[in-house]
Amino acid sequence: MTSDEISTRTRHEVIVIGAGVSGIYQIKRLTDLGIDAIVLEGDDDLGGTWYRNRYPGARFDSESYTYGYSFSKEVLAEWHWKERFSAQPENLRYLNFVADKFDLRRHMRFNSRVEQMTWHDDTSEWHLSLTSGEKYIARFVIASLGPLSQPTLPSYPGMDAFAGESFHTFHWPKEPVALEGQRVGVIGTGATGIQVISVIADQVAELKVFQRRPNWSSPLNNAAISADEMQAIRDRYDEIFENCKNSPGGFEHLPDWRGFWNFTPEERHARWDQLYTESGFAILASNFAEIFFDEKANAEISEYIADRIRGRVDDPATAEKLIPRDHGFGMQRLPLETRYFEAYNLDHVHLVDLSETPIDHVTATGIQTTGEHHELDLIVYATGFDAITGGYDRINITGVDGATLADKWRSSPRTFLGMLTNGFPNLLMVAGPQSASGSTNFPRAIETGVNWVTDLVHHATETGTTRIEATAEAEDEWVDEVIRAHERMLFRRSKGWFTGYNSNVKGHQEGTIRYQAYFGGAPQFSARIDACAASGYEGLELV
Ligand code: NAP
Repeated sequence: MTSDEISTRTRHEVIVIGAGVSGIYQIKRLTDLGIDAIVLEGDDDLGGTWYRNRYPGARFDSESYTYGYSFSKEVLAEWHWKERFSAQPENLRYLNFVADKFDLRRHMRFNSRVEQMTWHDDTSEWHLSLTSGEKYIARFVIASLGPLSQPTLPSYPGMDAFAGESFHTFHWPKEPVALEGQRVGVIGTGATGIQVISVIADQVAELKVFQRRPNWSSPLNNAAISADEMQAIRDRYDEIFENCKNSPGGFEHLPDWRGFWNFTPEERHARWDQLYTESGFAILASNFAEIFFDEKANAEISEYIADRIRGRVDDPATAEKLIPRDHGFGMQRLPLETRYFEAYNLDHVHLVDLSETPIDHVTATGIQTTGEHHELDLIVYATGFDAITGGYDRINITGVDGATLADKWRSSPRTFLGMLTNGFPNLLMVAGPQSASGSTNFPRAIETGVNWVTDLVHHATETGTTRIEATAEAEDEWVDEVIRAHERMLFRRSKGWFTGYNSNVKGHQEGTIRYQAYFGGAPQFSARIDACAASGYEGLELV
């Protein structure tokens, strides 16, 4: 690299990639410490997942007041969450409120998509190139990439030939989409599909749901939050965040350790009757812990939820098609719903079972399955994401000795504490693979991640440390711990993004296991990363 080439690059101590939930907090922490840092964001505005996912029905499934940031007493005092599970427009307003309150936009560069990052060992710096051709240099790069930020589409023949509108839910247009009077097809019944189907079912003329495999789903139990209730929540914020810190899932819902088998089936069912009406993930996170580890316990709760579905869907044949057979309740990331199953009681809503009649191709006017042609005006692809590592794979990241991160993580990611990866010094990840973020209430985990990464960068700037790398041994040990936690869980056999399955991504199809997240729980994760910091960063080589 010539000195001319270097001088055309803009230099910063830290570059944060991504202005979503984690990037916003990350830049706040760094700039508060006076560290020279900017955020590069590929989109034209901040908000990440809440900027992009504008589809009808998009909302939190963590209680709003456990999703918001905890770092600012002022924000906690000023913001009124209007619903227990707040919807996308409000969530985006919230992120803008926080960013504007602390004047964070001035540190953000929008329309700045990083396409390449190359490590220079001689100077201990990252050189970054954007799709625009702009170039940057940074001592540290902090990846605040969303774990679900790379949407994936099927590859059915004819998709481009469809004459009506069609898009992935992640790309739902900003402009209103006409639904009234339309014949709409939704492909995919994960958390996204379930949210969108439930809301648009009442609005469209005809809805065809193309379901390959059903997902378990249970009621969200949303409700409005009045001014008085919000005040009561504010008064309890310290307690709320303390509870989240101490629960494996990062929620207020605490697991029930009283022992599944210490109760009669009738007593268990009575408990589930209650949990089914409670908010959010209570039915999962506050259930008997055995449902995650013990096949018989899981089979019993699965049958209980199956009966609930049977009780809500009028047509028994449709009800049976909506009940998963290949995995138990909670063994894939559980979608939460509001009147999802009742949508199938509407005359104009039809379930197309792709396990019986797979999609053959898309035509100009609809979808041709092996059974029939479905005439459609709009196709919505709710087909999921290249989860956790997808954001990293989209950047050509070259580390020590020209090794690429994509190659290193091809069969499964490998990290130390989900924060660093050997061979890629000074690349820090706040919600990286094998951290607890993917397996717990996301914002609680990212605050933990941001705080840890910030402390490390601060330590480096204070001590003149210019190069930080996880050792290969420390990484091996952490990966072993991640695998051990994964192997304890029944879900290890299921096909979902927890286990790295995505039928639309080469190498992630059925039969592959990717150790994507740490499933040992939020408290254990926090204790582990705190111990690392307290030991003077044992497992890291600081030069
Ligand atoms: P997903 O859970 O991966 O579901 C994708 C769906 O598309 C599955 O039903 C899948 O079927 C189907 N699909 C994929 N490719 C297909 C193909 N070629 N043909 C037919 N069907 C196909 O994705 P998601 O629903 O977008 O959810 C991803 C994650 O985002 C969630 O697990 C959750 O963590 C997060 N999320 C959160 C919220 C919230 O409330 N906060 C809302 C939405 C999403 P198969 O199962 O057969 O592959």
